Amino acid sequence: MITQNNTPRPNFAVEPPGNRWLRFLYPKMYVPSVTSIDPQQLYSRGIRCVLFDLDNTVVPRDKTCLSTEVAGWIKSLGERGIKVCVVSNNGPARLSRVAGIEEIPSVCRAIKPRKHPFRKAMKMLGVTPGETAVVGDQIFTDILGGNRLGLYTILVMPMPGKEYWATEMFNRRLERLVLSRIIQSGTGGGEPRSVGDKR
Ligand SMILES: [Mg+2]
Repeated sequence: MITQNNTPRPNFAVEPPGNRWLRFLYPKMYVPSVTSIDPQQLYSRGIRCVLFDLDNTVVPRDKTCLSTEVAGWIKSLGERGIKVCVVSNNGPARLSRVAGIEEIPSVCRAIKPRKHPFRKAMKMLGVTPGETAVVGDQIFTDILGGNRLGLYTILVMPMPGKEYWATEMFNRRLERLVLSRIIQSGTGGGEPRSVGDKR
């Protein structure tokens, strides 16, 4: 799964680690972008709701408009019968500035990895933890928060663009350590893995 220029090519189901604490930091899948996630595969494994992060997951932090591809992906979730909700650490002002997000239910000022915002979103949508996936670009907020509740967690590569200074200073440095282990444990490297292939 390492390309010629040594760039990890994340597109695989992740093998859970033996260490129970590390397990909280490991996603169930690691993919290049949200558009790599197939709604049909999620549906087949019982997922009826996707809680997704905003910045650098569906829109770059310095942009205010969803790409056509990402907007299409969100629409395709709905068409497959999967409910969606944004769970973001941002305040409502940022969410209201992103075109294409206004129609989607949201929980803002989430302070992930707290459990509360995910529980609140699931309650709003009327779904159980077993039916819920979390999609985000940060291990120590999105993935850790989702794993604490036993949700199906999917890590995406962060979209290129500006990062919040504290994210770059602390979270990303720690993430690199965890990511190197996750990439070693990856089962992919060839064709994209289906969500249900390995767990
Ligand atoms: Mg993010």
